[in-house]
Amino acid sequence: MCLNVAACANLILDFLKMANIPFRNVHRVSHLFQPLSATHSAIKTKINDTKTYKNLINYGLIRPVNNGMYAFLPLGLRVLNKLINLVDHEMERIGAQKLMLPALTSKRLWKQTDRFESNKTELFKIEDRHRKEYILSPSYEETICDLIASVGILSPKLLPLKLYQVSNKWRDEMKPRLGFLRSKEFVMKDLYTFDKTLDDAKKTYDLVCDAYDNVFKKIGITFRKAVGDTGLIGGLLSHEYHYTSNIGEDIICVCSSCQYSINKTICEESHCPQCKNKFLEQHTAEVGHTFLLDTKYSKPLNALYKTHTNELLPLAMGSFGLGLSRIFTVAAEALSVEDDLRWPKGLAPYTVCIIPPKTGSKEDTASEYVDQILTILDQLNIDTILDDRTKLTIGSRLIYARQSGFPYVIVIGKKAMQVPPLFEIHNVSDSAYHEVPLESIYNYFNDENNKAEEAHISKVAV
Ligand SMILES: [Zn+2]
Repeated sequence: MCLNVAACANLILDFLKMANIPFRNVHRVSHLFQPLSATHSAIKTKINDTKTYKNLINYGLIRPVNNGMYAFLPLGLRVLNKLINLVDHEMERIGAQKLMLPALTSKRLWKQTDRFESNKTELFKIEDRHRKEYILSPSYEETICDLIASVGILSPKLLPLKLYQVSNKWRDEMKPRLGFLRSKEFVMKDLYTFDKTLDDAKKTYDLVCDAYDNVFKKIGITFRKAVGDTGLIGGLLSHEYHYTSNIGEDIICVCSSCQYSINKTICEESHCPQCKNKFLEQHTAEVGHTFLLDTKYSKPLNALYKTHTNELLPLAMGSFGLGLSRIFTVAAEALSVEDDLRWPKGLAPYTVCIIPPKTGSKEDTASEYVDQILTILDQLNIDTILDDRTKLTIGSRLIYARQSGFPYVIVIGKKAMQVPPLFEIHNVSDSAYHEVPLESIYNYFNDENNKAEEAHISKVAV
């Protein structure tokens, strides 16, 4: 309540001032939940743990909470969410629909498809108060078939039906390793497709594989697609997506001439079947797996459709997995250098980190440019974090930005006091460094955006 006219007028004035300031939710390093090992209790690591794995923990992107179980902390989750967005976009393009299935699957369903006994040692088993038994699902072929069966006979109009989810999955690993490379709980995107005939299912299979190719091309790390082991999921045909990686546990046989690749566990020849070249062996980490299942699951679980002659037949299925938390881990291993985490540019936790001058320094007044730089980056839709810990030197904050894996850093340093003022843009991945006036910041990042898009287009065209 206003006590007098003058105070009242001031309040209104304050309110108007506030209303004029466009709302901007600036992300600030000082507010970030990023427990750094230097300031928090150190986490025990093992001798064979890689430097990148330790850095993911020490720089506060993930944190172990139990043996083989990890928390994604805010910066790590930003990377994962960008990956999920990329996958969602490609799934949208092929008309796949996203849903979410419960974590628990009735043990009864896995008994029906004979998968319970053969997987028993790796399944987390749970009982409810009525002694009903469940498993924490490692995959969802049974659940989704049971869901389709419960809906009744599918209308042919819905076919091919492509349903997917992004969720946590569980496997009681004997030897968890290197964070999400082999963890008991992991994030997987799983897609299930339903068609009338095996021929139709094969076409859908190829369509989904193309979409997966696009996902990997957009991530930008060289991948290999190998003939896969149908293993415990089963089916007629299978492909695996691999990253070449020393931390991986797979070996694939590669023909250096035609690039035909096959998982070593199912490779019976020492030479490529297509051009008779001797296979080379590569250490890899499997990050995706596709299966043409036909009716392996739909038949025992009664996921049916009606033919034009009113016959009821089981749907022909495909199953497609992407190990998102494993892609997170292997991508970091593939790109990181020494003490710095590096990410594919499109997946970095923040694209740009702005470092304003140290408080009390000669250039302190140049902090006023922060707002203008943020406005420019907003216009380009570039996600930015402000390192507002201005008690620290620019140098120590630059080290922090590089360690966390922000691909671009804008420093407001001494030259911001010149006329006209200049700002430093550091491109961390190629160690390039530019000094530009304020009005060139827009063009610089606009060009970088265009370059990234062109790189993607040329990769897809290969
Ligand atoms: Zn070959």
